[in-house]
Amino acid sequence: MSVDLVIKNGTIHTSSNSYAADIAIKDGIIVHIGTSATTPSATETIDATGKEILPGLVNQHVHFREPGQTHKEDFEKGSQAAAAGGYTMYMDMPNCTPITNTLERYQDKVALASEKSLIDHNSWAGATDPDEVVKIYNNTGNIGFKIFMHRHPEVEYPYVPELAVYETNRLYNIFDAIAKMDKNIPISIHPSDVPLADELFYRLKAMGADDYSALREGKDGMNMTLGCFEAAFLAHITGLKHLNILHLGFNEITPKPHLDFENRVTLVDLVRKLKSWGWDLHGEAEASTFLQRDSNINWKRRWYTPDHEKLWKALDDEVFDLMLIEHAPQLEEEANKPDVWDAASGLLGAQDFLPLILTEVNNGRLTINKLVKMTSENPAKFLGIYPKKGAIQVGSDADITLVDLNRKSVIDESKTFAKAGWSSFDGYDVIGVPTQTIVRGTVVYDEGEITADPGYGKYVDKNEYFH
Ligand SMILES: [Zn+2]
Repeated sequence: MSVDLVIKNGTIHTSSNSYAADIAIKDGIIVHIGTSATTPSATETIDATGKEILPGLVNQHVHFREPGQTHKEDFEKGSQAAAAGGYTMYMDMPNCTPITNTLERYQDKVALASEKSLIDHNSWAGATDPDEVVKIYNNTGNIGFKIFMHRHPEVEYPYVPELAVYETNRLYNIFDAIAKMDKNIPISIHPSDVPLADELFYRLKAMGADDYSALREGKDGMNMTLGCFEAAFLAHITGLKHLNILHLGFNEITPKPHLDFENRVTLVDLVRKLKSWGWDLHGEAEASTFLQRDSNINWKRRWYTPDHEKLWKALDDEVFDLMLIEHAPQLEEEANKPDVWDAASGLLGAQDFLPLILTEVNNGRLTINKLVKMTSENPAKFLGIYPKKGAIQVGSDADITLVDLNRKSVIDESKTFAKAGWSSFDGYDVIGVPTQTIVRGTVVYDEGEITADPGYGKYVDKNEYFH
């Protein structure tokens, strides 16, 4: 047998072990994994001596802002940033303009992504209406649904009122409709309890609180925990198996919060508790909350000082199943508003996350196997596309990320592919960088360069990929 590509002399990492082997790829599929004596001849060879070989990372949480907000990001630049960050597939979020909540809008969006994307993709449909949910799911390759339980009392963006589902009856009807189709359909939820959020917001404003921790307390505070309980409860009673709670870590508020509660229950606390009850939940760590290194509260860093040790312990204890830094680009001038309450929130995480977390692998905070579990294997399992995606196995798509774990670098926002062109991690030293990203056997990113065309990325149709 002769194959298209062989990756030689590297070390393969799975969620449970690490071993030296060559990988042979034909027609975009892994056809052989073995020692050099058995490796077939190939048209092309990559020498991965000294490199770590990871299953391509799967990102279930990007906002590539198309259609309608392409001044912030688009499928071409966003997917390039993701590829430069070691990702081989993404799921895009529906809060673009118009929001992706009907069959026609979903189909339009998939067409746009297919035309421009460098890496493989699917898009969350925004669930706002039970009938439309059924229509989208039954007539497309859509993998799953996103529900924003939040809306802001005064501003329309980024929590688009039209997308918000915070009434218990509506949420129940949507969950019920999804459960009746298939209880394994993945759902990602931005939890909130809107009446409580409104109350927190107005109390903080009345106090004159105007720093980023106040913004967190008002938008992403105890309202998120209460909304998480409601969503988890409704998912539990309707039998849904794959509810992903987004933004774990967000409401770990600074040591000196503005609002006084006798007992603070964060998302991390609640998800830990619900898992101990045996409820089916996925917890998505927003890793910026423990990868930040300074307590400097300014517009670009956009953070405060949560208890890092508590968050790392939650990682060790498997409170988190998935881990990333959200990619939700805003322009610098949208994020840098004099009044913090007007500032558009969101980090640009797709390109920076992997070097930041590899640095923590070097620091001994987590193993590379755990990294594979939380960034490749678990996301692919959550989305129902494992082991076609998220695995290095014979028969899997040849989605592979090569990493130099010893290389030192500095995060430089001028080198980001993301359209908004800035980073909250600018200037951070890192040890460990992705060097090549391979999607279905084609190198799409190679040492700082994009090496495939827009549109190479393929729509991951559930009808083809679900096992
Ligand atoms: Zn988001």
